[in-house]
Amino acid sequence: MDREGDPEVMLAILEKKAEFAPRFKAAQEAILASQTCGRDWTESDGKMCLSAAGAERVGRLFDIQYFETSWLKEEFTDSVGKGYRYVYECKAALGSRITYAMGVYSSRDAFLGQCDGQYKALEEVDENNIRRAACSLMKGNAIKSLLGLRGIPREEWQEMMQRLGRQAPKATKAQPGQAAPGGPAEANRAKRPEMARRSNKRWKSKGTLRQRRQGELSRLGRRLDWLIAQVTKCRDGWKCQKCGKRLFAHEAHCAHVLPKSAGLLLRWDRHNTILLCFEDHIEWAHGHPVEFREWFQAKFPERFAHLQDCRRQRAKFDEEARRTLIAVLERELRRLGGWP
Ligand SMILES: [Zn+2]
Repeated sequence: MDREGDPEVMLAILEKKAEFAPRFKAAQEAILASQTCGRDWTESDGKMCLSAAGAERVGRLFDIQYFETSWLKEEFTDSVGKGYRYVYECKAALGSRITYAMGVYSSRDAFLGQCDGQYKALEEVDENNIRRAACSLMKGNAIKSLLGLRGIPREEWQEMMQRLGRQAPKATKAQPGQAAPGGPAEANRAKRPEMARRSNKRWKSKGTLRQRRQGELSRLGRRLDWLIAQVTKCRDGWKCQKCGKRLFAHEAHCAHVLPKSAGLLLRWDRHNTILLCFEDHIEWAHGHPVEFREWFQAKFPERFAHLQDCRRQRAKFDEEARRTLIAVLERELRRLGGWP
């Protein structure tokens, strides 16, 4: 057979896959609903995430193979004192799908390393539990990746739970200090099928327009990514804010204090970015996140307080909001003298 493969065989395989896809999805959903409870789900930025424990329960019903597992223990010292983290890595396979997964757990992490919001003394932390937690996170990540359980949009998840004739379990919010908005969700539930039908219709009739809008949104997003990096470089005077080294072009890393994944509000907030050299960005800031954030808090207390506030906010960045922010950042870049 040539490299392209026999088209008839390929077509037969595709048709078989298409035929089984809905049944596979239904079976997977039934497993999800029967094996998870509300506590297993966390909502973050409108997406539902399954906990490692929930993922492991689901994963037990699938024939998932783990191989090339390796781990290492990294020790570090930060302002709290000595600490360590376990890093687990593996490859995992389900049928012909293979994924790479990682799990990291440190002696500073909240569940095992803290008590009443205070860091435990290192001797009080059970090292075996830290190691097991890292391993369990790795497995959970592998399962979520193989079964496509990462970041399910909240609406889709609720509809899935309803399809299964099950009350959608109340998921916990990722952000502390925020009350669950029980009322509006409950009120919207009755309208949902109608809303879904209408949006579906719009999607079909104006598909290309929607796609064009999506393209415009990501174009504006890329522009914002570029602008925020330029503003950061000019503001921080092209110097690594940790070691003071003068940086040129690609050596200059625009690092985020709170991760970009925490939301678009933080991704494009210039108070959340800082200029670092390669080593200080990758090895220090990413390698020792607790120490990095404490250093930032000590150096820029006001900016850090502002970031803590932003963390609890959720922003929708539609086209208009993106254009407004672009104008703000362009003005800022001009003020800093960095306009090309
Ligand atoms: Zn540096």
